[in-house]
Amino acid sequence: MPRKKIDREKVALQWRRTKIIATLGPASSSAAMIDRLIKAGVNVFRVNMSHGEHDSHRQTIQRVRRAAARAGRHIAILMDLCGPKIRVGRFENGSIELKTGATVVVTTRPVVGRDGLIPSQFRSLHKDVTVGERILLDDGKLELEVKRIDGRDLSCRVIEGGILSSHKGMNLPHSKLSVPALTPKDREDVRLGVELEVDFLALSFVRSARDVMQLRRYLGRLGAAIPVISKIERPEAVDDIDSIMDASYGIMLARGDLGIELPAERVPLIQMDLVRKSRQKGVPIIIATQMLESMMSSPRPTRAEVTDVAGATILSADAVMLSGETAVGQFPLQAVETMDRVVREVERHRWRDGSFADEPIADRAGKALFVRESMAHAAVQLVRDLSIEALIVPTHTGTTANIMASHRPLAPIVGATSDDRVCRRMALHWGLVPVQIESSASRNWREICLYISGQCELGRSGQDILLVSGFNEDPRKSEPVLKLIHI
Ligand code: PGA
Ligand code: MN
Repeated sequence: MPRKKIDREKVALQWRRTKIIATLGPASSSAAMIDRLIKAGVNVFRVNMSHGEHDSHRQTIQRVRRAAARAGRHIAILMDLCGPKIRVGRFENGSIELKTGATVVVTTRPVVGRDGLIPSQFRSLHKDVTVGERILLDDGKLELEVKRIDGRDLSCRVIEGGILSSHKGMNLPHSKLSVPALTPKDREDVRLGVELEVDFLALSFVRSARDVMQLRRYLGRLGAAIPVISKIERPEAVDDIDSIMDASYGIMLARGDLGIELPAERVPLIQMDLVRKSRQKGVPIIIATQMLESMMSSPRPTRAEVTDVAGATILSADAVMLSGETAVGQFPLQAVETMDRVVREVERHRWRDGSFADEPIADRAGKALFVRESMAHAAVQLVRDLSIEALIVPTHTGTTANIMASHRPLAPIVGATSDDRVCRRMALHWGLVPVQIESSASRNWREICLYISGQCELGRSGQDILLVSGFNEDPRKSEPVLKLIHI
């Protein structure tokens, strides 16, 4: 019987490798819109705890779970904690004007602000700041220089003036801030996250691995083990990135605040370095903020924005993120569709010229590799040499699948597990296709491969599938196997 001709490219590229994260907000929280966003390709939804009440977050998260079940997709939820974000207090008339060259007082006394007086919500600010340091306000649009400190009052000169309204953010790039990594509000939010079984917790303004450990210890006390994503948006975090990566499940390059805290021109190279490093460490990385910013109010992105999304895809970040575009923008659906199109276009090109994994990470200049990494490295090579159509990785905790993903093979990696939480976690990682299998079925891998290949339309073109299995958390029990299975 003549075989139906199968389009290998179509099969290989049906799954977008780079994942899409969309932030939920008033523009995107209805059940109908969530359905549409999932259809358009959202893999992970971010719930931003800087806005909104617990009741509405609870409803939104439950809505996402129901929508994911309707769509039959593994969709993760990332709860983004505010962390020690510093803000100005409230102004009598809602806002004040700062004139360039004028003197203003920033105070930690509990007062309402007025002309010439800016209250700080962070009450120890006066202890952490020294004369000559800069205070940036409202996403860095306004700038002050500290001239004198009298008790709780900081006299500042306005370097860059403008209108400042209540509760706008403050950034102090040069100061060593003594704010706790987890505020009382964060703790309440974490408890909500545990109750709702969110899949990831992102921690804002991480300064060191100790901040991450504080959240992990708190989770431990609650008896929960939710993976922590560290947001890299403070200069100290960039300097201490190795230990932060070691302490975290993943990282987010939070370019919005980072580009205020550091000169913005440093962000692109930090982005390049961090993607490379995170692949080496097998830690997923999210590129975030302003990716399609103009789509807040326009149905079409700028060419520069398209190039930014393409750039993150070429670097092979695990995920690209939309913030205001989907939370409060006028075109949330179009923003996701645009991102999906741009990423797919780049991936098609990269797949055709074989350039996924063209920057191998396993080569550590003669140093011996861990067994897992060597096996992953060999698997990537086999996929390339034999035009393997899919990798199938049985995985209990997701670890083996994650390691495989960090090597960026040419073929999609099906992570097969009976655990639905592990399935959802895989939604964040580059190239992983989560498939849930029955736990009783987890013995006969040949049968499982056939089942998966049927489900995912893989291996129908007479090509082989590569099974990567036998890893154990305990290296002594590890008996890794690479097995070719002919469908
Ligand atoms: P945010 O974090 O949206 O919570 O501020 C991202 C960023 O700063 O880029
Ligand atoms: Mn931020």
